[in-house]
Amino acid sequence: MNICMVGTGYVGLVTGACLADFGMNVVCVDKDADKIAALQSGHVPIYEPGLEEVIARNERAGRLSFTTDLKRGIEDALAIFIAVGTPPKPDGSPDLTFVRQVAEAIAEHMNGYKVVVTKSTVPTGTGRMIEQILRARSRHEFSVASNPEFLREGSAVSDFLRPDRVVIGAGDARAIEILKEIYSPLYLVETPFVITDVTSAELIKYASNGFLAVKISFINEIAKMCELMGADVHDVARGMGLDKRIGGKFLHPGPGFGGSCFPKDTAAAADLARQAGYNFEIIEATIRVNEKTKRRMIEKIRAAAGPLAGKTAAVLGLSFKPETDDIRESPALAVIEDLRKEGARVRAFDPAAMPNARALHPDLEYAKDAYDCAAGADFLVLATEWNVFRKLDLDRLASLMRSRTMIDLRNVYEPAELRRLGWTYAGVGRG
Ligand code: NAD
Repeated sequence: MNICMVGTGYVGLVTGACLADFGMNVVCVDKDADKIAALQSGHVPIYEPGLEEVIARNERAGRLSFTTDLKRGIEDALAIFIAVGTPPKPDGSPDLTFVRQVAEAIAEHMNGYKVVVTKSTVPTGTGRMIEQILRARSRHEFSVASNPEFLREGSAVSDFLRPDRVVIGAGDARAIEILKEIYSPLYLVETPFVITDVTSAELIKYASNGFLAVKISFINEIAKMCELMGADVHDVARGMGLDKRIGGKFLHPGPGFGGSCFPKDTAAAADLARQAGYNFEIIEATIRVNEKTKRRMIEKIRAAAGPLAGKTAAVLGLSFKPETDDIRESPALAVIEDLRKEGARVRAFDPAAMPNARALHPDLEYAKDAYDCAAGADFLVLATEWNVFRKLDLDRLASLMRSRTMIDLRNVYEPAELRRLGWTYAGVGRG
C-alpha cells in the first residue's frame, strides 16, 4: 500500500519510517526543504534512539523516500497521514493552519479515492473540518479518519512498534479496513485496537494526555506537601503506585511537565471545553499547578545556594526529558530564565539538545561535558535526568566547583549520601 506522510517531524518521521518497516511504501513529505535535503542525504535531523537504523533499512529496501513534492505524494497514495504541527495560539487553542493547508492541498491534488488520516493531535471537530474542505473542493470519493499517536520522544520507535493500543476513528467501514490493514503487524501481535468514531478518537488523545498531566501535577503537589511535612515523596509515590488502581507510572516529582505535548494539549483541552461552554476544572488546575511547580524551582535553588546575583550556575540538561533533543517548553529553560533574572551567570550542558538550545539562546554559555560545565560554578542544578548525569564523579565535581551545592530537580541522587559527602543538597519533595 502506498502511504503519504505529510509532516516529517518527531511524529511523522517515526511513523513514516515504522510504517515502511511494516512493509508499506511510504513517501514522507515536508515543506521544510532543508529537512528533506538532509534526510535525502542520509542525515536524520532529530535525535531519537534507533530511528536512524529504521530509516536506513527501509530506504535501502526502497520502501521509504523523502520529498517536498506534496502533489506527487498525494497522487500516489491511498492513505494520506497528516502529521504536521498543531502549535498553541496565545489563547491556548491549537493552531490548525497547517492541517487546513494540507487538507486544501489534498482536495486540490487528489485523483481518486483517498483515506485522509489525522495523526497530529487535533481538537474534536477537525475531522469534520477536513471533510468539509474535501467535499467542497474535490469531486473524488474519500474517507476521513483519526489515528492519534501516543509515542513518547526518546523511545518513539519502540513505542510505535509496541504500543499499548491503536486508536482508529472513522465513519465508514472502508477507512477502518484500510487502517487495520496498515496496522496489521500490530494486530497480529495482539495489540488492542480501539475502533470508534472520529470525534471520540480525537478526544481520546486529549483525555489521555490530560490524565497523565494530572498525575504529574498531583505528585508535584504531594512533593510540596512532603517538603512541608518532612515526608519523602518517593516512599509516598511507591506506597500509592503499588495500588493497581493508581499505578506507579507518572508519579515522579520534578520541575513540572514540559515538551511539545502536555503543555499544549492541556491548554487545548481546557480551550475545547470552554468553546463548548464548560469549565474543565481539573485540567485548569493542572495547568496552574504546573506553572507554580516550574516557578517554585528557583525558590529551592535560592534556599540551597543563597542570593543568586553574581553567582555561577552549572545547569545539567536542557531537553524537556532525557533521550531527546527537543527543548520545546523545557522546564530546564524556565529554570535558566529565572536564574538569569536573579542575576546568576549560567553555564549549561546537554548531551543532545545544545544545537537546538544554541539556536534559541545563543547568549548562554555552553560546556563540553558535565565537568566542564561545573568548573568554577557556585552550585549545580540537575535539570534533566540523562543517564550520563546519574553517576557523576562527585569528588571530581567538588574539586572543580567553588562550593559543594547541588539542586537535584529530578531526584537522581540520594540526599543522605550527598550530605554525608559534605554537599548541600536539595531534591524535590524529600522532606
Ligand atoms: P514537528 O514540529 O516536529 O513536525 C511538524 C512538521 O510538519 C515540520 O517538519 C513542519 O515543517 C511540517 N509541516 C508543517 N506544515 C506543513 C505542510 N503544509 N506541508 C508539509 N509539511 C508541513 O511536530 P511533531 O512533534 O512531530 O508533532 C506533530 C503532531 O503530532 C502535533 O500535532 C503533535 O501534537 C502530535 N504529537 C506529537 C508527539 C511528540 O512526542 N512530539 C506525540 C504524539 C502526538
